[in-house]
Amino acid sequence: MEVTILGAHNIESRDTRCISLLIDGVLAIDAGALTSSLPFPAQQKLKAVLLTHQHYDHVRDIPAIGMNFYLHENTIDIYSTRPVREALSAHLLNDALYPNFMEKPPGKPAIRFNTVETGRAESIAGYTVLPVTVNHAVPTIGYQVTSAGGKKVFYTSDTGPGLDECWGQISPDLLIIEVTALNKYNDFARQSGHLTPALLLQELESFRRLKGYLPKVVTVHMNPLDEKGIKAEIDAAARALNTKIRLGHEGMRIEL
Ligand SMILES: [Zn+2]
Ligand SMILES: [Zn+2]
Repeated sequence: MEVTILGAHNIESRDTRCISLLIDGVLAIDAGALTSSLPFPAQQKLKAVLLTHQHYDHVRDIPAIGMNFYLHENTIDIYSTRPVREALSAHLLNDALYPNFMEKPPGKPAIRFNTVETGRAESIAGYTVLPVTVNHAVPTIGYQVTSAGGKKVFYTSDTGPGLDECWGQISPDLLIIEVTALNKYNDFARQSGHLTPALLLQELESFRRLKGYLPKVVTVHMNPLDEKGIKAEIDAAARALNTKIRLGHEGMRIEL
């Protein structure tokens, strides 16, 4: 299994992209940087896109990929929860902001939306995909993706602290977890459903207590304006845990 980080941040610029992951070139998770990071042939190789929640930085390329698949006369499978489907229909693919590619063209729409349920594993594009509830400002799921060879990656998406129940359901080799803000924003992070390095440390301590091990850890969704400071605080958390934590970046590839 090869995981590529297409977008590793929470805001976009020439040098940073919104969150998007790609597994083996065929399965994407979140659509913050799908079209801007991938040439057309690579887009057409996508078998499915898993969406974690409806926030704009995670779904922004859905209309764009819809248009690209429409013009290629192809269909892309999107998976997520009912609230995400409703938000896309109401706000992005509503025939006002952009065409409703879930119905266009008739008979063979460019986007086929598939609803997932938390806690129920499904076979998607040759992987076993388990959606797990996390703690964010809107209903949000993380995904554990297991390859045919048994390798497992879990991506938390946006989440605040209190992940014990989530940890109980997964056993990843690689954990891709959000760390949005500096420790001085702990209160903001708790209120808005995000993590700081200090909160990450607590969650990883819980993980190790509950599971008896720590997976490889890569952080994403960092605020690039504070990234230097966030890195220093993550390094301190890693020292406290006596483990290694890497900050994700655009173009990073992780082999499992
Ligand atoms: Zn969010
Ligand atoms: Zn986000």
